[in-house]
Amino acid sequence: MVESHCKDGINTILNSISREVFLMQDYKKIDHPGNKDVVLRYIPGHFITPNSHVNYYMDLTDMKARQREARATGEELADMYIASDVIDTILCLNGMEVVGAYLANKLTKAGVISANSHQTMYITTPEYNASGQMMFRENNQHMIKGKKVLVLIDTATTGATLQSAVGSIHFYGGEIVGISAIFSVSPHIGEVPIRALYSIRDLPDYASHTPENCPMCKNGIKVDAICNGFGYSSL
Ligand SMILES: [Zn+2]
Repeated sequence: MVESHCKDGINTILNSISREVFLMQDYKKIDHPGNKDVVLRYIPGHFITPNSHVNYYMDLTDMKARQREARATGEELADMYIASDVIDTILCLNGMEVVGAYLANKLTKAGVISANSHQTMYITTPEYNASGQMMFRENNQHMIKGKKVLVLIDTATTGATLQSAVGSIHFYGGEIVGISAIFSVSPHIGEVPIRALYSIRDLPDYASHTPENCPMCKNGIKVDAICNGFGYSSL
């Protein structure tokens, strides 16, 4: 009995290791023209995200967490906003704070001003309440209220997260000056343009489906992993 439990445990571990190896071996890459440190890594498969089922998982771990890649990513995103008038706050979603800091640094150096006292930008991230809505406590609300806010997100696919962010910023009295993303399916959300380093042109067969209408589920294709802004957990 004990032995069989051990075997089960070992088999589970071996399965999960072979799955991880499989996923890592299957990486594909798209270089960003003009900056060798900006590389989009993705894995084809069947993945569940908080809002949809998708056929590619974008691995943005290095872009978010490695200093050289995060800096390159932030600086490339900044180039799309150099001509902007004023940005007071960068609101970072899905773990984009490090990229946000480099983005703010490049914008400030390039002369993009903020109307904040001391001419410096705020870089912040929202808290979420129990029903998943973004909220800002009283000590953070001054970064949104009456401010020009740039939203920074990793990937924009269904737009659900961004729609919620846009509603929340308006609720707290902020004005959205733009949306920056590493990858975006759509060039805008409502009236607000999304400026992204990678778009559907780079991954023309990228597909996102509601869970009820996922053709991979309908065809009985096994789910590879569950993903969110923190990464993936293979099944
Ligand atoms: Zn599915």
